[in-house]
Amino acid sequence: MNTINTVAFIGLGVMGYPMAGHLAKQGLTTRVYNRTYSKAEAWAKEFGGTAHNTPKEAAEGADLVLVCVGNDSDVRQVTIGADGVLSAMSSGSFLVDHTTVSADLALELDAACREQGVAFLDAPVSGGQQGAENGALTVMCGGEPHHFDTVQPILAHYSKAVTLMGAASSGQLTKMVNQICIAGLVQGLSEGLHFAEQAGLDQQQVIDVISKGAAGSWQMENRHKTMIADEYDHGFAVNWMRKDLHICLEQARRLDAALPVTALVDQFYADVQRMEGGRWDTSSLLKRLRKPQ
Ligand code: NAP
Repeated sequence: MNTINTVAFIGLGVMGYPMAGHLAKQGLTTRVYNRTYSKAEAWAKEFGGTAHNTPKEAAEGADLVLVCVGNDSDVRQVTIGADGVLSAMSSGSFLVDHTTVSADLALELDAACREQGVAFLDAPVSGGQQGAENGALTVMCGGEPHHFDTVQPILAHYSKAVTLMGAASSGQLTKMVNQICIAGLVQGLSEGLHFAEQAGLDQQQVIDVISKGAAGSWQMENRHKTMIADEYDHGFAVNWMRKDLHICLEQARRLDAALPVTALVDQFYADVQRMEGGRWDTSSLLKRLRKPQ
């Protein structure tokens, strides 16, 4: 039975910073790396772990290395790249990637890890900044059951649900389903609010009435107030969503799965980027529909 005492966390962004914080607060020896070193220093000061200059240095002696960076090429850089974590990881240790990336990359990392006796799990998350801060993320994992059983209690320190979905890449495929479901739904919610506004209805009253019925959703519950106020500042940005939808659409092409609405909504998000809304949150699809005042 493996025991995990020392962890390394690579990537202290909106998600990684609080996630790594939860691990340190549980008493795990936590070594961190962030590309912008000052953030790693600030983290170490706040949570009492150690800041390191390269992913490789952070991973030295770690039983478990966790990664949460940006996209496929970022993950490649910090794992299999020069000074990546794999160059320091020993047989019997674990690598968990929380970044939302392609299923192909999950398989590539799984193969690279196997070659040196490292256990790999792809483990993308949902729940956003709030979920990371409150320790209430949902984690979708791909990998071997006995590896999952060892790391699950660690991931549970920042999660409300940690589930093994199948072999390597199953976590990323599940995250794709999550993003596909959200894309069409947010567009529907935006169209509903836009229609209510054009019809001269009280948008808040409309939501109060319909949210308890069949039209209700997490997005409606948690986003309608800021959407009505024309505020789009909730963390998960349009730029990230486009990255994720690109991954979904590429995968769908190979699976021969039809995603017509997802493809359309991806183009709507491209419009939002052209409106300089790349850093607005994903509910900004409404802003694209709103008539100029
Ligand atoms: P973020 O705030 O932009 O942070 C990204 C982190 O990755 C930063 O620490 C950044 O370092 C680091 N990084 C990026 N490229 C790098 C590279 N090439 N080498 C080394 N470090 C690199 O992003 P986030 O919101 O935490 O999201 C991280 C991942 O989680 C993304 O894949 C995203 O899609 C996914 N996700 C995000 C949310 C959300 O609500 N934010 C929800 C679910 C999933 P610097 O500090 O130097 O820039």
